[in-house]
Amino acid sequence: MARIIDGKAISQKIKDELKEEVARKKSEGKNACLAVIQVGNDPASTVYVGNKKKACAYIGIDSKSYELPEETTQDELLNLIDKLNDDPKITGILVQLPVPEHIDEDTIIRRISPLKDVDGFHPMSVGALCIGEKGFVSCTPAGIIKLLKYSDIDIEGKECVVIGRSNIVGKPMSLLLLRENGTVTICHSRTRNLKDVCKRADILVVAIGKPGMINDEYIKEGAVVIDVGIHRKADGKLCGDVDFESVEPKCSAITPVPGGVGPMTIAMLMYNVVSAM
Ligand code: NAD
Repeated sequence: MARIIDGKAISQKIKDELKEEVARKKSEGKNACLAVIQVGNDPASTVYVGNKKKACAYIGIDSKSYELPEETTQDELLNLIDKLNDDPKITGILVQLPVPEHIDEDTIIRRISPLKDVDGFHPMSVGALCIGEKGFVSCTPAGIIKLLKYSDIDIEGKECVVIGRSNIVGKPMSLLLLRENGTVTICHSRTRNLKDVCKRADILVVAIGKPGMINDEYIKEGAVVIDVGIHRKADGKLCGDVDFESVEPKCSAITPVPGGVGPMTIAMLMYNVVSAM
């Protein structure tokens, strides 16, 4: 039977460590304040934003909410970002994605100062990751590296296969595994013989956005399987991109959905906010 990697417990541990670090930094006169901007009232975004503010309160840092109406123009949003960039009290800026269709996501991401880019989406942050320099790292893949480390799973020299090449998960994930000296293969929608490639993996990270697509036929006996996907089924329950029932008996360790990768994303956002203090 596989070990279930408990993201909830590991994220709690990280938040508790951060809480201590915040207290220490505050005693040295340092402060942090995360500005969280939401445009429109997409219910999922409202939940994510609420959880981020709660996490800030838990570790002892301030957050400031900007809830803007759906009809906010791109220029209005850019003006707010400019103001926050210039405000020395604001140490991190986050625009909850997706933004409404009339606003260009890339333009917004590029406007946030790289010094306050706690989501790690700015091209400067991505470039720094690419060449191994210090910078903010996208929270979900950074959280997966922490999950592996806290679970004592070695990455060095391992065959690591990442399915998905998105800018926020797949690509930074591959770079982080490479940074940890994994031998990395990236798969995507045009990959041929996906099953054969996946079957080489000692560590398989699945970020496809297709509920339950990866079953035991994609898994090498004893592999570590990280499921990034998150979907709500018709019965209201959550599931991932991995068919947990089929894969779990074959692998050595696996993240559940919920309670695996998800909680790590917010913990790593807090990590980024604290590192900017
Ligand atoms: P995305 O849609 O931007 O990217 C999906 C990737 O999967 C693409 O690169 C595509 O090439 C690849 N793909 C699609 N179909 C494929 C197929 N049949 N075979 C191989 N590759 C295929 O998605 P994303 O933003 O990277 O997110 C992936 C999943 O992770 C989604 O379910 C999303 O909700 C979830 N997610 C979870 C968290 C979290 O905190 N848990 C964070 C971000 C994303």
